[in-house]
Amino acid sequence: MLVALTDRHEQVILNSSIPKTALKQLRQTTKFYCPQCKQQLQFKIGTFKIPHFAHNSNSLCDKYFSERETERHLLGKEQLYQFFHSQHIDVQLEPYLQNLKQRPDLLIKEGGHRFAVEFQCSPISLEKKEQRNTGYERDFISPIWIPAQPVNKEFQEGIMKISLPKQLQQFILSSNQQQYIMLYDPTMRQFIYLSNLMFLRGNYFISKVQALPITNQKFPFYLPKVITRKEFSQYVWLYHAYTHNYLKSRVLLSRKGVNDLFLRSIYELRLNIQTLPKFIGVPVQESDAISLYTVEWQAALFYFLHIQQLQLSNMNNQAINYFLKWASLPETKRTVCAVKNYCCILQSLSINHPHQPCLEMELTNQLYSHFLAINYKY
Ligand SMILES: [Zn+2]
Repeated sequence: MLVALTDRHEQVILNSSIPKTALKQLRQTTKFYCPQCKQQLQFKIGTFKIPHFAHNSNSLCDKYFSERETERHLLGKEQLYQFFHSQHIDVQLEPYLQNLKQRPDLLIKEGGHRFAVEFQCSPISLEKKEQRNTGYERDFISPIWIPAQPVNKEFQEGIMKISLPKQLQQFILSSNQQQYIMLYDPTMRQFIYLSNLMFLRGNYFISKVQALPITNQKFPFYLPKVITRKEFSQYVWLYHAYTHNYLKSRVLLSRKGVNDLFLRSIYELRLNIQTLPKFIGVPVQESDAISLYTVEWQAALFYFLHIQQLQLSNMNNQAINYFLKWASLPETKRTVCAVKNYCCILQSLSINHPHQPCLEMELTNQLYSHFLAINYKY
């Protein structure tokens, strides 16, 4: 904790610009208490962590209201507090919200509206996060979650493949026709934007990574721009490169033999796994609902059309559900949507058959406009 009350009921807010010698002097002359449970606190001024207050071990207050405070959490919280302060925004550090029995890291008031800021360093379950959000919303407070940049993970700037653990995926935001995550790194004093997320497979995405020093940040927070058509070509190039790489080992990975739907599809459609048409294996919205690489279910869809003697225009919801069942894929709203999105792209390119020619530029244009027409699912 960075806030405590003295025995004279004065509030003390720790700040890294105060010299340690001054703090040590203060510690000798003053006792400090938790603003919430009123227990006496230890004032820790060590060499490793930044100065902070701590409850005695096994305090219930700690157990219910604050997570184990790491150096990273203390640092980030203090820097964010200073940031809002420098923006002339009304900000409170570690306020206890009596109504909600919740203690966000920061509470800010801006334009007649209240925001609770949570700088999240430790893993949090989706349930717990939702539970806190519900609390805030009941009191007309908008939650702002800022996940910390994971310590073991350095993001280089540029357009690249990134892996996002499920823990971070719950912080994906939708805005400006795209999905992005804003992380904060207290060591480098900068925000990291992972923007224009394009799902690849598993926990892998293609993303544009940008760093923004806290001194250049504004509030409301900067919203990343949507990628240009030129940048999008780079995305598609990477997407195909990773798919191609995967396909190289795909034949060896197969343990199902003739029952392998993908390999069977390729074979029956007289296609070559190394030279598949560019429109089989393309990024579509909601494809993250299907755990396979898009190339696998998209090739299977062509095979399905072939043996059922169907046209793409016949692929209504019922036919899509039938396809999903036939391909042993989950039948959910989102998987149906993914297949439907793919059918729409093919139709707009007038493609009905896997051996049809298709101009790469036209395909990329279609994929780009589809990428921008984002649906708000988070
Ligand atoms: Zn307490």
